Formats: sequence, C-alpha cells, structure tokens
Amino acid sequence: MLMTHIIHRSLRQTPPFAVGASGVTVYDSAGNAYLDASGGAAVSSLGHGHPDVIAAMHRQIDRCAYAHTAFFTTEVAEELADTLVARAPAGIGAVYLVSGGSEAMETALKLARQYFVEGGEEGRSLFIARRQSYHGNTLGALAVGGNEWRRKPFAPLLMEVPRVAPCYEYRDRRDNQSVDEYTAALLDELETAIIKAGPDKVIGFVAEPVVGATGGAIPPTPGYFKGVREICDRHGILFIADEVMCGMGRTGTLFAIEQDGVAPDIITVAKGLGGGYQPIGAVLAQGAIVERLRQGSGSFLHGHTYIGHPVAAAAALAVQQVIERDGLQQQVQRRGATLKRMLGDVFGKHEHVGDIRGRGLFLGIELVRDRATKEPFAPERKLHAAIKAEAMARGLMVYPMGGTIDGQRGDHILLAPPFIVSASE
Ligand code: PLP
Repeated sequence: MLMTHIIHRSLRQTPPFAVGASGVTVYDSAGNAYLDASGGAAVSSLGHGHPDVIAAMHRQIDRCAYAHTAFFTTEVAEELADTLVARAPAGIGAVYLVSGGSEAMETALKLARQYFVEGGEEGRSLFIARRQSYHGNTLGALAVGGNEWRRKPFAPLLMEVPRVAPCYEYRDRRDNQSVDEYTAALLDELETAIIKAGPDKVIGFVAEPVVGATGGAIPPTPGYFKGVREICDRHGILFIADEVMCGMGRTGTLFAIEQDGVAPDIITVAKGLGGGYQPIGAVLAQGAIVERLRQGSGSFLHGHTYIGHPVAAAAALAVQQVIERDGLQQQVQRRGATLKRMLGDVFGKHEHVGDIRGRGLFLGIELVRDRATKEPFAPERKLHAAIKAEAMARGLMVYPMGGTIDGQRGDHILLAPPFIVSASE
C-alpha cells in the first residue's frame, strides 16, 4: 500500500484519495463512488458541493478572508452568532466561535471554570462525566471523555474526572425495572457522585444529549435530562451539553436537547455547524455566565488564532440559512422516520442486530453475537472495522465503532446521511 508523508489515522494504510464530491456521493481517484450514509462522521448536513454555500464562501474570501479577532470583528461572524442565539434554548445569550469540536469542548471547560473563579469559588475544579462518551481528543476534552483506551496512554497528563453510568436503556435497564425506575436510578447515581465529590468542588456535569461515536445514536430516556437539570440546579453546578455530533439539526431539531425540554448552561456544537465546508465549532453560553465575566475581569482568558474566522463563519451561516430556507429540518424528521422504519424492516429480526435506535437522521444499529442475551462480539474480532471495509468495498460510507471496552460495550454502526438524502438513496 502506498505510504505518504501524512500521519494518517492508520500508519499502515493510506486511505483512498477523494477527488470529488457532490450531493450524497464522494468519488475516489480510482473512479469509485461512495454513498455518504454517515455524513463523514455526522458532519455533512447539506451534502457535498452545495452551490449556495460555496458562493457564500467565495463572497467572503473576496471581501475579507481573515481578520484577527484581537483587532477586528466581522459582520459575518456577528450574524452567525445572532442566528445561533436567536434559535438556542432559553437564556443562551453568547457565542464563542472556534474551529472544531475538541476546541469547543476545551473552551466550554475553561469558560465554566472561569465563571466560578470570578464568582469567588476557586475551589471548584471537578467535572463529572459519563462512562460512555466522546468529547474530543485534546487533553481537557480527552480527560472528560469515557473511552478508556483513548485515555490510557495519556493518563498522567489528564485531570481526574469522576464518571457515572450513561443512559443506555438497551443494555442497562433490567427486565424488572420500569423506564422511570431505571432513569431515577441513574439520576440517583449522578447526585451521589456530586455529593461524594463535594458539591462545592464541582464545576459541571458534561454529557452528550444523544450519544454519538461511543454508542451509536443512543437517545436518553424520557425525563433523564430534566432530572439532570434539576440536580445541577440543586447543587449549583453547570450542565454542559456536548452537541458537537448530535446538534445543528441532525436529530430533527436544531439542538437535540430541545426534545428533552431543557436549557443547558453551555452547549457545544461543531460538525453540522459548517457541514464540512469549513472547520468551525461554537460554544453557546447562558448570558449570565458571560455577564459575570464582563462585570468581573472583563475578558475570557482564552483565544486561538482562528476564532471567529470569517470564511468559516460565512460557510456556517450559509449552511444554516439553506437548511431553514429549504425546510430541511422537517425533511430530517421525515427521512429519519423512513430510514428507521426501513432499517427495522430489513434488519429488525436479524440474529446479530440487537437494537436500532436514534433520533432524526442520527441512527445507530447495535450488533450482538447473541440477540437473546445481548452478548457482544469479542472486541478482538474488530467486527466494526470489517464492516467499514466491506461497506467501502461496496461503495457505502457508514461509521462503525466497537469493542467491549469501558463504556463501549458492543459493536455499532452509526448512520447520519446528509439532510438532502432522497428516499431512494
Ligand atoms: N464531542 C463529540 C460528541 C464528538 O462526537 C466529537 C467528535 O467526534 C468531538 C466532541 C470532537 O470534535 P472534533 O473531532 O471536531 O475535535
């Protein structure tokens, strides 16, 4: 296999060269076409090559391709922030624009910490997170994430994070437990962890409203996040919702947490924000959080060279405008329901399919060795890798993850096609 100078994800294999992309299809240099059924990693919300997004980027490049935020702001970054705030859950009043999901998470963690420091609560230094979670690969985001195998080599560099059970009904709810009882037990575990850590030591609770890469589109049980909100309020800690993967319309509402009727203190978004046209992410914060910093030190002790990048902002603004103009949010709801039904028709009784789940066009299939006992396949089999290779060979992109390690119990396939996908595709 041809080796190149890039440090690819596998150091033993160079992936195919992508030379073209249009709609829901990506083309490689060998002339193969791939149906992008995962939007990359739930990134391509509008599909590839959308002329309106490309035109908006061109206009911004011609006008002002870059202006450092220590000197200037730009109309396009301001308009993007206004657009996000106007559509965000109650109380969200400020936006910090970054270049991706991990950066958004790092920013969120630091903003949350500074909020307490400026309130005179320097003793708060802990984040509580869930065992099944992925929040990014930079050191802070990695520390809060649940993938033990990702953290292990870097453990001495990472902050300590108490972890609680995820909301994973398919695997964890006992047969003799009602959904409400299961949810109450999870919430009890969270509250116990906060009390054990000492509520005045805790900054916040971090969770993905719909679990993505480590679980294959696992939605919460009804009432779970309402309970989380109440517990966070009771102990004066922040609720940080990581919507990097599940946000920006992917689940059928702009923010996944809208469907749980809850307003987080901080929300992170990325992938679907720019839909892959530019690297961009954002942190959305309650107005009161930023107001405390404004009244206090007057600045957020953070910053990267490319925050508020005008071309990235132009791409994101155009993506979000097209989604609204073309009614694609409704399309996500319709197509998501169709895809889920079809997956059920085709795979619902398959001996190795344990569960089909998700929200909108964010769907997961959990594979099991034994459907009755839910026993997963042995991690050494690397079933998910084999499925990805087989799908690619057949011209299909799906996003498989797996193993029975820590929070990642079982192999699963994530499907997240672009919102423009047609019923026949
Ligand atoms: N948070 C979640 C929920 C994610 O799924 C991801 C990426 O998959 C990240 C954070 C990190 O985002 P990025 O890969 O853009 O750094």
